[in-house]
Amino acid sequence: MTARRRLIGAARKLRELGSIGSALASTSHPYMAHIVPMRRCNLACTYCNEFDDHSDPVPLAEMQRRIDELGRLGTSVITISGGEPLLHPDLDGIIRRIRKTGAIAGMITNGYLLMPERIQRLNRAGLDHLQISIDNVMPDAVSKKSLKVLDAKLKMLAEHADFHVNINSVVGGGTPPEDAYKVSTRALELGFSSTIGIIHDGSGQLKPLGAAERTVWDKVRKLTRRSYSRFNHFQEAIANGQPNDWRCRAGARYLYICENGLVHYCSQKRGNPGVPIADYSREDVKREFLTQKGCAPNCTISCVHQVSYIDHWRAPQTNPPRHNHDTSGLVQIH
Ligand code: SF4
Ligand code: SF4
Repeated sequence: MTARRRLIGAARKLRELGSIGSALASTSHPYMAHIVPMRRCNLACTYCNEFDDHSDPVPLAEMQRRIDELGRLGTSVITISGGEPLLHPDLDGIIRRIRKTGAIAGMITNGYLLMPERIQRLNRAGLDHLQISIDNVMPDAVSKKSLKVLDAKLKMLAEHADFHVNINSVVGGGTPPEDAYKVSTRALELGFSSTIGIIHDGSGQLKPLGAAERTVWDKVRKLTRRSYSRFNHFQEAIANGQPNDWRCRAGARYLYICENGLVHYCSQKRGNPGVPIADYSREDVKREFLTQKGCAPNCTISCVHQVSYIDHWRAPQTNPPRHNHDTSGLVQIH
C-alpha cells in the first residue's frame, strides 16, 4: 500500500472514531442512513426486491436536499444504495454533498460499471467505503454478481481505489457453498476486507444452514476474522436458525430513504413510518429509538443490527410496535 493511501486510510479511521464517539454521547441522532438515488438496476437478481428496470434517476438538486436533511438530523454515515448507484449521472455530486455534511460516504454497488477512470472520479468525489456483494463464482439464473465476471473490476479497484473496499460473500439461496470461500479468499488476496452473509429462501422462517454451507461459513469466518464487521453473534444465530434477542433501532439510529424521499425502517419494511425526510424530526428519532420492532427476532439485516449494537446496553424499548408493522421473516438482499 502506498504512503498516500495509508494517510487517507488513517484520516478516514479518525473520522470514524469521531462518529462512534458522538453516537455514544447522544442517542438522539441517526448513525447510519441508506439513501436510494435510483431504483433502476442493470442486473436482475431473482431474490432481489429492491430494483426495477425502468425508473429515472432522482435529480441531483433533490438528492442534495435529502442529504442536507440527513445532515440536519446529525447522520454520521450515509451509504448510497439502489438499484444500481453507478447508473446515476450525478453520482459524484451526491458523494460530494454527503462529505459536505461531514458524514462518512459509502456506496453499495454491483460493480459492473466500474472502470479505472470511474474509480478515480469516486476518489476525487471523496468516497470513503464501497461494498460489492458477490453471490457466486460462475453466473447462473439467480445472480450474475459473479467472481468470474467481476474479478477484472476487483483488480481495477485494487489498483486505483483510495477508498476502503469490502467484498461480501454469501451462503444459502442455492449458491454452491464453496463459492463463498473462493470469493472471500480472492478479496483478501487483493487487500480488501471481506464479510459473509446469509441468503434465505424467502419462506419467512429462519432455518439452520445445511452441513456443507455450515462448513464453508465457519471456514470463511476464520479467514475473515480480522475484517472490521465480523464481531457479532447475530449472524451466528441466523446460521443456526435461531431467533435473535435484540433492540432494533431502525427509524432512529438507522434510516432508509427511498427514491421518493420517504423515511422507512429498512429496505424490507418500507411504509414504516413512510414520512418525507424533510418532515422527519429529532422527536421522531427519539420515539422510534424506544419503539419495539415486532420483526426483530427473525430479522437478517446485519447492518441495522450492527448500528443498533452501539446502544445495546441502554434504553429498553417501551413503545409497542406500530400497528402496520408485520412480524414476518426476511430475506437479506445486500
Ligand atoms: S441485488 Fe443488487 S445487483 Fe442484484 S438486482 Fe438487486 S439491486 Fe441489482
Ligand atoms: S426488518 Fe429488521 S431492520 Fe427492518 S425494522 Fe424489522 S428488525 Fe428492524
